Amino acid sequence: MANDYREMWKKLGLDLEAHDRLLQALPPTYGEVYLNQENRPAAMEYFDFVVAEIHGQRIQELQEHKARGGKVIGTFCVFVPEEIVRAAGGICIGLCSGIEMGAGLVEKVLPGSICPLIKSFMGFKLTRVCPYFESCDLVVGETTCDGKKKVFEILSDYVPVHVMEVPQMKRDKDAALWHSEVQDFLARTEELTGQKVTAESLRRAVREVNEKRRALLRLAGLRKNNPAPISGKDSLLIEQIAMYDDVERFTAKVHELCAELEARVAQKKGVKSKDALRIIVTGTPLAIPNWKVMHLIESNDAVVVAEELCTGLRYFKNLVPEEGESTAEITASIAKRYLQTNCACFTPNPGRAEDLVTLAKEYMADGIIHCSLVFCDPYLIEAGRIEKVLEGHGIPLLKIETDYGQGDAGQLKTRIDAFLEMLKEKRKASRP
Ligand code: SF4
Ligand code: SF4
Repeated sequence: MANDYREMWKKLGLDLEAHDRLLQALPPTYGEVYLNQENRPAAMEYFDFVVAEIHGQRIQELQEHKARGGKVIGTFCVFVPEEIVRAAGGICIGLCSGIEMGAGLVEKVLPGSICPLIKSFMGFKLTRVCPYFESCDLVVGETTCDGKKKVFEILSDYVPVHVMEVPQMKRDKDAALWHSEVQDFLARTEELTGQKVTAESLRRAVREVNEKRRALLRLAGLRKNNPAPISGKDSLLIEQIAMYDDVERFTAKVHELCAELEARVAQKKGVKSKDALRIIVTGTPLAIPNWKVMHLIESNDAVVVAEELCTGLRYFKNLVPEEGESTAEITASIAKRYLQTNCACFTPNPGRAEDLVTLAKEYMADGIIHCSLVFCDPYLIEAGRIEKVLEGHGIPLLKIETDYGQGDAGQLKTRIDAFLEMLKEKRKASRP
């Protein structure tokens, strides 16, 4: 990939040496975590290709779009409505933030006690190694947590930033505030792209993004089967790629994969045996290439069957109604849909625990692993509430706190192995 795209990376202003080091680090990790899996569906080939071309083909597509006068908008949160960007002729890209980057430079502008996700995106910007970031004409921030809302002030020294105020409660007055934020975002996007959003373009964009969600829901539904037809690691990868791949191509490829998985289900063929433990992962988003915890879980006789994450069900479980007549009506529906997201930044946030109880039943889960990033107060604190609710329903929970390094992998493995062992014993004891 490197030789074909070097000129493009140079034009984007990347630090080519640092970028080479980043690209060299990825293939061994991917080989070990992904390509070594047994019983992988053949249709994962497309998603392997997307990763192999992570800074290649898609970046080229973005440059072609920009050469035609199109704009690229980067985001860090599932609250930013992709439909609006598409309706105004733009491309919306989720920026990854799943790996430690440029720690030395980051320390100069941020305090140490801040979450790895925030450090990561500042690191990517300061080191100039992310061609997605460098392709962005605008980055959209949000006020979901204290760290993010303050860091977007700093980020705006390096790239144009638009911040959306996400309310912290879900009362009527909060919904009204959020609706006005979505309207402002629409105006800002129109201004950036120079294209008016019409009822027709917005309806089309809503349909297209809903189609992507439907494909992901079809995939999620298939994972309810026992044996699970696909690993959690592969599913997470697809959910991560959903944030930046071409929407229509991605949707078609997920449906192709689902057709293969349906055949597997009919043949009772799983990625692991039907006795493998079934786990749900919940907590802070697992941004690409953060596969550490999923890999540790699935290195055992266990399979992750659902992700109650923003790189998971929270991203695609709710659809936007498709029948609105006017831009105003459709914008209101979009605002309503996004506010249903049960992020830990809300207080109170009972919906997330309720979702987990429902998911545990639907997916026949043996247990749930709550994974928070260090210094992520919203999720670390909410974990206690979640534990209490799950306890009341007899659903076992393991709480872990981690970062993007590998330093704690041994300790995490011990804890995860012990949890899975306990679940196995519980299963045995419950059998007549
Ligand atoms: S966890 Fe909250 S802040 Fe993070 S991406 Fe999800 S909705 Fe946004
Ligand atoms: S919600 Fe947590 S993980 Fe997300 S940016 Fe804030 S502190 Fe970091």
